[in-house]
Amino acid sequence: MESLDFIVSGARVWESQNDSVGPLSTTLRVRDGRIVALGEAAEAGAREARRIDLGGRILVPGLIDAHVHLELDPALSTPAEQSAVPEATRLEAMARRAKAMLFAGITTTRDCGGGCHREHRLRREIEAGLRPGPRLLCCGQPITTPGGHCEFWGGAVSTRMEVDRMVALQLEAGSEWIKVMATGGVITPKSRPRDVQFDVGRLVDIVGTAARAGCPVAAHCHATRGIAAALRAGVRTIEHASFAGKGGFGTEIDESLIRELGASEVWVSPTVNAGWGRRIPDDRDGPSPFFDRMSTCLRLQRDHGVRFIASTDAGIPGVAHDDLVSGLLAFERYAGLRPVDVLRAATSEAATALDVGDRTGRIAPGLSADFLVLEANPLEDLSVLRDPEFVVFRGRFFDREMREGGQAE
Ligand SMILES: [Zn+2]
Repeated sequence: MESLDFIVSGARVWESQNDSVGPLSTTLRVRDGRIVALGEAAEAGAREARRIDLGGRILVPGLIDAHVHLELDPALSTPAEQSAVPEATRLEAMARRAKAMLFAGITTTRDCGGGCHREHRLRREIEAGLRPGPRLLCCGQPITTPGGHCEFWGGAVSTRMEVDRMVALQLEAGSEWIKVMATGGVITPKSRPRDVQFDVGRLVDIVGTAARAGCPVAAHCHATRGIAAALRAGVRTIEHASFAGKGGFGTEIDESLIRELGASEVWVSPTVNAGWGRRIPDDRDGPSPFFDRMSTCLRLQRDHGVRFIASTDAGIPGVAHDDLVSGLLAFERYAGLRPVDVLRAATSEAATALDVGDRTGRIAPGLSADFLVLEANPLEDLSVLRDPEFVVFRGRFFDREMREGGQAE
């Protein structure tokens, strides 16, 4: 069903400022892949347009995963295995992941780091219509310390001059975000989440250099001191925010820092994903210390008004790129959020945080026609997001049959 110019009628729309799906069916006018009118205005002068009746369906904005790594194969468990993937197969594998994301309803995503700017190349091919995939925002090589987290991607810096050079390299490659590893991480040998990598001064350098080029900064932060330093340096998004101490994630929760996060303009991207979902205890299980600690951590953030965006860190072991919905269901449980709050974090809030709120994230006139056609209401049960009847991206329809038959190539 190829059409960038049409009228959708009969569906009920979730407008993201509301806590419920609109009670009445409405009409949506799409022209050149954009939503040009909603409701009565969409009917005016629309007699000649093709009409698609979606009676009984619910429309929500296309989903946004604010933190993925297209470069990483989630079936591999170490950086050594990742780097052994033959060069000849890499771009194809990334393209398959991007396609799977789009069919899973993810119409925008931010790639939070890779080693060779292949994701930028993939983005050019998606934008040129050569491959199906979501709108991609790219960070390029994450800035880190010599020997630090994800140094294998080539972004290590020590001096102020090296910071400038490394930021410039990412901008030249076409990045619109800069990623910095403010603390150590899990997957890098000899790197520990609880260790800080950069002091506030160096983070200020990075944020300043990026800002002069109009780029916001995403900071990877596990250690509590790293979260504090990134906040003070003025980064736009704090990734993970896991308050890691000696005992692991959530063992150094600092409520006064959480209060500061809530009072600030920063966005927290907690990367709650399918892996976290597997650690939610059910009735038969014993207690889950991880669930208890991270649920305390996220609920405190919620209570202090921290602004959340949905993210998964897809590509890390066991976290598939097209499985944002498992992350959203886990996020709902850990943070004790309502489905509508989770859906906002994965649509309108994420779009604002990622600086694409003027293009996507809501079903509203002037924005790209990026939405999901659903047979049930996700505000009652987020799991219905797993199987959209159609994914509409820039006015193009992608349906289940194409997903299974691979016809979107
Ligand atoms: Zn990551």
